[in-house]
Amino acid sequence: MYIVGTHRSGGTALGTILSSVPGVFYAGELYRFPFPIFDPGDPNRMCSCGLPVLSCPLWSGVRADADRDPQLLSELRAGQRRFEAWRHAPGTLLRSLRRDRALAHHAERMEQFLRIVADRSGATTVVESSYSALRAMLYRQAPLGGGKVRFIHLVRDGRSFFGSELGPAYGTHPGPAWQRIRPAIAARWTAFHSAAIAFCSRGPDTYLRLRFEDVLRHPRETLTRVQEFLGIDLSEAIARIEQHRPFEMEHICSANRARLVGTLTVRPELAAPTKLSRSNSALFWTIGGWLELALGYRPGTERAPSSG
Ligand SMILES: [Zn+2]
Repeated sequence: MYIVGTHRSGGTALGTILSSVPGVFYAGELYRFPFPIFDPGDPNRMCSCGLPVLSCPLWSGVRADADRDPQLLSELRAGQRRFEAWRHAPGTLLRSLRRDRALAHHAERMEQFLRIVADRSGATTVVESSYSALRAMLYRQAPLGGGKVRFIHLVRDGRSFFGSELGPAYGTHPGPAWQRIRPAIAARWTAFHSAAIAFCSRGPDTYLRLRFEDVLRHPRETLTRVQEFLGIDLSEAIARIEQHRPFEMEHICSANRARLVGTLTVRPELAAPTKLSRSNSALFWTIGGWLELALGYRPGTERAPSSG
């Protein structure tokens, strides 16, 4: 199960909710493997279990299993650089149409790593929140042993994305500085969600679009749709949200920093969009307004910044 869209959309929360179901493991942003988590290795990166990732029993087990095939991690990294970087998107799309062998080999390597994560966690369903629609499409090239990849396109109000991107950048690899220029923030939100629709929305049984705000405000209705889409039982998770009980976060090492708390309680008040300054609001609506409206968001109803 692949969460597609953009960062800062609530993927960590949705992944944590889903992983409360037996047999489902939320693996986070798997594109960060092997670089930089395993290679060169980040001793300061913490897992939600409270241990550094490099000594966490689950992820060090994944590492040991991956290293049994001496080429796996190096080929995975080479394939990511060659096919998953957005500047290579036209070439990757062309290769996918041609059923290119090098691309198929990379997709098989992705599947091999995914399978190790599934085996180590004991899961039959792995949830990945790498967000990139280009990477999402590559899973379609993998055989997946007869199984199939399902996409949840998770959308969060573009105003909240914009407000959150203007805040501090976290992590050791926050991306190039130009991405934080204001027009680039609005353009990225628009482009990534457009790409998610273009690359992933074929077939009603493999694509479901959710607004994160609906998960927060109407958890029962929204998660019932997810339950039907994925064929898993979310009734206990829905009850937990409605009773404001926390979810355990198990071995999440590549996702939002909220993972470091170790538990997650769903807070409906985060659903109101961030209030942008007048000039930022004008900029955002000029670039992304058409998509914001198409996704069902409306002007007004903002909250003051700082609460999320
Ligand atoms: Zn851990």
